[in-house]
Amino acid sequence: MMILNSPQVVQQTVLRWKQQYKIAFVPTMGCLHEGHLQLIRKAKELGHKTVVSIFVNPLQFGPAEDLKNYPRPFEEDVEKLELLSVDVLFAPKEADLYPECFCTQVKVQGLDEYLCGHLRPGHFEGVATVCLKLFQITAPDYAVFGEKDFQQLRIIQRMVEDLNLPISIVAHPIVREQDGLAMSSRNRYLSPEERQVAAHFPQAMSEARQYFLNHGTCSVEEIVGCFRRRLAETVLQPDYVEIASGRDLVPQLPSVPVSSIMMPRLFAAVKVGKTRLIDNMSLGGEI
Ligand code: AMP
Repeated sequence: MMILNSPQVVQQTVLRWKQQYKIAFVPTMGCLHEGHLQLIRKAKELGHKTVVSIFVNPLQFGPAEDLKNYPRPFEEDVEKLELLSVDVLFAPKEADLYPECFCTQVKVQGLDEYLCGHLRPGHFEGVATVCLKLFQITAPDYAVFGEKDFQQLRIIQRMVEDLNLPISIVAHPIVREQDGLAMSSRNRYLSPEERQVAAHFPQAMSEARQYFLNHGTCSVEEIVGCFRRRLAETVLQPDYVEIASGRDLVPQLPSVPVSSIMMPRLFAAVKVGKTRLIDNMSLGGEI
């Protein structure tokens, strides 16, 4: 595996490959877990050459967020990528992507307003900007994104369509721990006790989903209420709980019948101690 930090060298390498090969790309912030590794395995199925990036993007962190403390076990990550026979690891330094004169930002309007966007102003501009830069550098035919960050996935799909980028965005289902908790680099922050409690989060989501599947005709309020009541039995603190269409992500009013929403999805963020966890689940038949 080549480990490169120069955008120019990556560009030259992939442009040479592109004459012959399809390139599949997985952007990450590192601290790789099985969720990331499944995305990379998917990328390997899709393309002949696989590029993975590790970059903790300062542009997408708010001033009060965990940029400085974000876990960066680089050597462990390299070992995992070697085992998967990834072709290129692109691991730029901050100055490689954002020289002092850098002043361009990409904003995907609308989709960035709700759910996490509401609570993390500027976050999705940071995400869209870095993804566009990474796409320009790695020139992929395919880029794989996890449904764990469903809003991010929809924003990137929108940007690719709006800006006519010749890239297929491939969505990968959420990879979960045995007790249902969605894998996340931030799960490392949880103490053993918090980790145990955190399992109630996906369980409350699944129960709300099951409530909908059992009752069919029920309102947003009923399902959100079911989720909130279950969560109230624990020390987990809801940050937001919404039901929105997986298409436009607009949170629906309490009285709206869930069956009238196209591709209805439950979205939530909760706090356990200082750590914020997010999850989402389709309310359709499929998970
Ligand atoms: P991150 O390193 O957190 O920026 O994530 C990099 C990519 O991995 C994003 O597309 C995430 O949605 C995806 N990802 C992270 N955790 C999971 C998971 N548990 N299941 C599926 N995809 C994931």
